[in-house]
Amino acid sequence: MIRQYSGIAPKGDLLLIQRLCEKLKGKSFLHVNSTREGGGVAEILHRMIPLLQDLGIDARWEVIEGDAKFYDFTKKTHNALQGNKEFFTKKMWDHYYEVNRANSKKINLNADAVLIHDPQPAPLIDFRKTRRSKNKIWIWRCHIDVGNPYGPVWTNLKKFVKNYDAAIFSVSKFAKALPIDEFIVTPSIDPLSDKNRDLTEQEINEVGDRFNIPRDKPILLQVSRFDKFKDPIGVINAYKIVKKYNDCRLILAGSPATDDPEGEAILNEVKDYAGNDPDIHIMLLPPDCHKEINALQRMSDVILQKSLKEGFGLTVSEAMWKEKPIIGGAVGGIPLQIVHGVTGFVVYSVEGAAFRIRQYLNYPDMAKRMGQRGRDYVRNNFLLTRQIRDYLAVWYSLTHKGKNVIEL
Ligand code: UDP
Repeated sequence: MIRQYSGIAPKGDLLLIQRLCEKLKGKSFLHVNSTREGGGVAEILHRMIPLLQDLGIDARWEVIEGDAKFYDFTKKTHNALQGNKEFFTKKMWDHYYEVNRANSKKINLNADAVLIHDPQPAPLIDFRKTRRSKNKIWIWRCHIDVGNPYGPVWTNLKKFVKNYDAAIFSVSKFAKALPIDEFIVTPSIDPLSDKNRDLTEQEINEVGDRFNIPRDKPILLQVSRFDKFKDPIGVINAYKIVKKYNDCRLILAGSPATDDPEGEAILNEVKDYAGNDPDIHIMLLPPDCHKEINALQRMSDVILQKSLKEGFGLTVSEAMWKEKPIIGGAVGGIPLQIVHGVTGFVVYSVEGAAFRIRQYLNYPDMAKRMGQRGRDYVRNNFLLTRQIRDYLAVWYSLTHKGKNVIEL
């Protein structure tokens, strides 16, 4: 499998992966998160685990389970970590802890390296069965925008995070004052997945026909969970401004995530707001519609990710890989992907988004050039192989902690 990436991914990444795997072959690498479907973390794990296995690493992926109360709480903490002021009681934190205790009894937590994704399973560290050692590494991986969290929620979460051996953030400005090692690793997309592989024109048209999307005028697209930080209402407002001057369609495509209880309410709000405009297509797709999302991205003329808070925003790299003109909110990991004016545009407002959409629609040659540069930028920085390289390097360096020079 890894061989399939040669000629696509940078050679240096593949060589380093090979070296690291010579050292880590046969060792166990456990990933734990809170949903098998929906959102960027599941998206990456679906592709990364088989690839790690192919490389000779004994990789496993476990998903914790909780009740509705647990997911309500964890969504609230997610919102608070992204800056919302939320109200929490001790009872809520206790329930969160007990759900993790129950999961610790069901999941085999024994591995040479354990990577815990996001806050939902963070307390699992308290149920680590082995003693802290260089041969049994526990890492907390934060995918969300914790650049400016609501103070009390971070204070509580930090009680767990500080017990890990290391923490990984997606963007340097999310890093925290912690008594443990910290690393910056950006997420990535898989160029060979159904989400990103090349599609024929026929495959793209088939999806357009199936979803009744005429390709008679320019298409604007945002693909996102229905979450207020993704700003779907802002996207509709930008479309409405553009529509006064340039005829176009807008697609808002989303899928539910099992650990996101707010999705349905936001979806209804978005539907109400869109009214009965026949050129706005609001699509709720099952989470495994990867080829369909791929086709929607490929049939679009401008792709938006107008987030107000964003951990990284895989959808941005997905669009850039397909050479699409991209517009993203200037938050979280989006400006790492969009070099403003070179590989796309970052925006700060609805009006700014509308302005850039019109610029792309009115200057298609410029839009095309930026799209082409975007693909190269993703190839060099945001492919899955680079992220595997980084995870293995973090793990290997932690097993050699204290040494100034680590030989590979
Ligand atoms: N996604 C999808 N179907 C949808 C909405 C999103 O497959 O209807 C995918 C999207 O293509 C991307 C991931 O879910 O791969 C979302 O990751 P991102 O980092 O953009 O946002 P998150 O949901 O993790 O905040």
